[in-house]
Amino acid sequence: MTTSGRSPASSGEQPASSTPLVARMQGFGTTIFAEMSALALATGSINLGQGFPDTDGPEDLLVDAISAIRAGQNQYPPGLGILELREAIADHHRRCYGLAYDPASEVLVTAGATEAVAAAVLALADRDDEIVMFEPYYDSYAAAIALAGARRRVVTLRRVPNARADGWSFDPGELYAAVTDRTKAVLLNTPHNPTGKVFGAAELEVVAGLARQHDLYVIADEVYEHLVFDGRRHIPIASLPGMRERTIMIGSAGKSFSVTGWKIGWVAAPPELTKAVRTVKQFLTYVNGAPFQPAIARALAAQPPHHEAVRQRLQAQRDQLCAGLAELGFDVVRPEGTYFATVDLHRDAVEFCRELPGTAGVVAIPSSVFYDSKAGDTYVRFAFCKRPEVIGEALDRLKGVSP
Ligand code: PMP
Ligand code: GLN
Repeated sequence: MTTSGRSPASSGEQPASSTPLVARMQGFGTTIFAEMSALALATGSINLGQGFPDTDGPEDLLVDAISAIRAGQNQYPPGLGILELREAIADHHRRCYGLAYDPASEVLVTAGATEAVAAAVLALADRDDEIVMFEPYYDSYAAAIALAGARRRVVTLRRVPNARADGWSFDPGELYAAVTDRTKAVLLNTPHNPTGKVFGAAELEVVAGLARQHDLYVIADEVYEHLVFDGRRHIPIASLPGMRERTIMIGSAGKSFSVTGWKIGWVAAPPELTKAVRTVKQFLTYVNGAPFQPAIARALAAQPPHHEAVRQRLQAQRDQLCAGLAELGFDVVRPEGTYFATVDLHRDAVEFCRELPGTAGVVAIPSSVFYDSKAGDTYVRFAFCKRPEVIGEALDRLKGVSP
């Protein structure tokens, strides 16, 4: 377990004296995703770094958004988000997970999951409070916690190869040891970026047991809820006994509908928690994405066929990338969900990723940026949310690279 920040998922650190930036945000620099996408453009590399699909969302969804713009849905929507979308989110949660949320008081539309996570952390954590989370972790978590003046307590997910499948696991003892009398919440991401791990029922019960025992909130980032493979099911932690009342469940249209630039996310939680998140959220962005909201509402109502198509496409792309990398001699950890696969280089991955655009014309992310500890120093994250021909070309280019 680690209790402080070694290297946030960012670059461009400046000495304190030369920057107007508040001390708690120094060291965050530019996000690794922006940096790597710029590098891909500058070098003409294939971008297997930033996790965004290189195909558009469903045609109906795009047409609905255009129609909403033409129909004049271009002014501020209501603070909670339009009712049609809140109803569609509540319907989705009932249909997919048997979880009932009241669209009037228990659902809130946000500017992507990023704002939902930030608003939840800022709403729950005071200065010097603590949030427990797993590493590797999505980069915005550390920044949101730092903005709150709070601290992160990090428990490491470790690779556990076994005969049936390769995967990632944690030590429940380490998780319990991370809790102190300042702990306010557990920030849980499943399906998990960057490992591709989908937390199973028994693991979720460990986290839930901890939350119940110590009366903690759970901020559940479930943006990849529909991107799970091989017949697996995503289990929302809110569906476990005693968890709905303490969980802020977060989703996003970006991942579920392949429109990451639209930034429509949402929160579902009991009224008091929703109100707390909304109180912060209204002073971050107030509202966003007026014409996108009705389009996403309609897409959510019609979603099963779309989600099935995306799942199948991504699973095939995962298979293509993982098989190709393994053939090239890389030690691949096959993901259970998400957009991302990990390889273990068994040597320093930062150096490898820095050289890769020049040597092969491919961009990937060194997973160490998602860690506080050194546990991820040899891992590289490759995104497979790209067209098969793009993955094929990337694999061709990687032929000359020794793992
Ligand atoms: N959480 C995780 C785990 C992510 O990978 C991402 C990025 N795609 C986000 C949150 C941010 O989602 P959004 O684009 O909806 O803000
Ligand atoms: N979530 C995406 C990833 O992990 C990137 C989002 C971003 O650029 N902030 O690659």
